[in-house]
Amino acid sequence: VETRYPDLLDNHPDVWLVLRDGRVAGILKRALRFRGVWRLEAAALRLYRRRTVTLDYPFPCRGRHLIDAMAAGVGVQLRREERRPVLRLRKRELERAAWSRGRIVVQSSSTSYWTVNKEWIPGRMQATVEAMRHVGYDVIQLGSATDEPIRGTTDLRGRTSLREAAAILAQSRLLIGLEGGLVHLARAVDRRAVVIYTGYTRPEETGYEENVNLRDPQARDSCWRKDACEHCRQSAARVEVDEVVATAMGLLRDAESRPV
Ligand SMILES: [Zn+2]
Repeated sequence: VETRYPDLLDNHPDVWLVLRDGRVAGILKRALRFRGVWRLEAAALRLYRRRTVTLDYPFPCRGRHLIDAMAAGVGVQLRREERRPVLRLRKRELERAAWSRGRIVVQSSSTSYWTVNKEWIPGRMQATVEAMRHVGYDVIQLGSATDEPIRGTTDLRGRTSLREAAAILAQSRLLIGLEGGLVHLARAVDRRAVVIYTGYTRPEETGYEENVNLRDPQARDSCWRKDACEHCRQSAARVEVDEVVATAMGLLRDAESRPV
């Protein structure tokens, strides 16, 4: 597999070799130049590209789950249990994050480089955290350095690699998050999440049925709009703190009967 994120596929049970995107083309170029066989280089690259399956999927992906669209793009149909990402951590990675066992993970902001429309309402995650702490849970904040800080958490914004974040999530009890990368990362290590949706996408397009996905029913169709959207802001506002806390408590009661 060639990827921009080789770390994510380290130790993956089904991947034999992981290369950074563009690496093979670079190697072919250097090797063939060195031998002075100029015309071979173009031919070898053409052959390599013909033999490469390139991931191609529609975006926006309306009315269909993104993971199904990605699979179809490489000519595969997924079984139900395969409709998820997989990240396989190493033992030492888990050990290093063992301190996070039993805690709850939150984020204050979804990745915003693409759209601002996945954000919840300022202050609501803080209120959610306070409610969870009130009943005795320790909370960890993950995210990027520029995310709004949440008081009363172990603040790890901007201080974890993707794999370190995954190791923390893997041993946590639960993620309370926003639609985006962290939810996929939690699913990849088999942790459940309460996910706050706006109108931007629908759980049927980007979510997982193992999670509880909270989305305003009045938001109807997803908009997939890149620019700030009033529909998304309003639907975000209709997901209330009480509902998020009650949902989280329900999932925690569920999990109590299972080993962490
Ligand atoms: Zn919208």
